[in-house]
Amino acid sequence: MSYNDHIFEQFAKVYFLGQCIRFHRAEFLDVFVNHIPEGVAHFGKRLVSYCQSSTASPVHLAFADGSAATCDVLVGADGIKSSIRAQLYSAAAKMHEDPSLLRYIHPVWTGTIAYRGLIPVQDIPRGKDGSVHRTVVAPMMYCGKNKHVVSYSISQGDIVNVVTFASELEKHGQIYSGEWVTECEQRELLDCYRGWEPEVEQLLKCIKKPSRWAIHHLRPLPFYHKDNIVLIGDAVCSCLPFTTKNSDIS
Ligand SMILES: Cc1cc2nc3c(=O)[nH]c(=O)nc-3n(C[C@H](O)[C@H](O)[C@H](O)COP(=O)(O)OP(=O)(O)OC[C@H]3O[C@@H](n4cnc5c(N)ncnc54)[C@H](O)[C@@H]3O)c2cc1C
Repeated sequence: MSYNDHIFEQFAKVYFLGQCIRFHRAEFLDVFVNHIPEGVAHFGKRLVSYCQSSTASPVHLAFADGSAATCDVLVGADGIKSSIRAQLYSAAAKMHEDPSLLRYIHPVWTGTIAYRGLIPVQDIPRGKDGSVHRTVVAPMMYCGKNKHVVSYSISQGDIVNVVTFASELEKHGQIYSGEWVTECEQRELLDCYRGWEPEVEQLLKCIKKPSRWAIHHLRPLPFYHKDNIVLIGDAVCSCLPFTTKNSDIS
């Protein structure tokens, strides 16, 4: 299959009721952080473990830097590799003498690899007629068999965010042995989408140093909290990113 086979078709145009707002996540988080009163949040802390002598007593937190704290409710928003989920499920497995609960601790590889890159808008070549790439003005999704490419502008139009997904469905559930997130050569990305339409190639060629993400998800958890320990976000419900619901619920 190649571009010359004329198999590339626009098959859908999506309209949003209201507006679709796109933003750079780091900038979005900065807005929150800049408005938190001083002393309320403590950054750069790594939770190692928690303990609680009874449900009526405070939860004791131990951090990697040797510091400690207590809280009434511990909300585990510590992502897909959540150490709070690991501790919660280890304790439950022990208490109920049910080792099957341990399988909820470790995420499962979906068989999908994502490549990501951010491109300054001015780096994207214009068409022969001087027109800008379509993704600069509208979010785009290019679909192929078991692969797709999503691109849209962020940072008030200064940057284009590109995320590509390539799935080998038969690999779902296998152990992914390497690092989950690494840099990779541009060649690997271009090879993965060889023969895709020129619009895609133009974008991918602008990503000089892509990152490669092994996409994992969680088995549906049987419980999300125990007494005053609760899990939220990817710690409890991490699905494939293109279901787009993840950060909505995080
Ligand atoms: C390639 C890719 C593309 C995606 N695209 C989209 C998208 O387009 N739309 C969408 O809705 N979602 C998308 N997602 C999913 C989205 O990124 C997640 O759902 C979201 O980031 C989850 O937020 P979270 O706060 O639960 O976890 P995270 O964002 O993982 O944050 C967890 C935080 O906890 C911290 N932490 C971890 N362990 C500890 C510890 N022991 N002590 C203290 N802190 C700790 C981490 O440092 C981190 O800051 C994508 C994901 C991937 C991988």
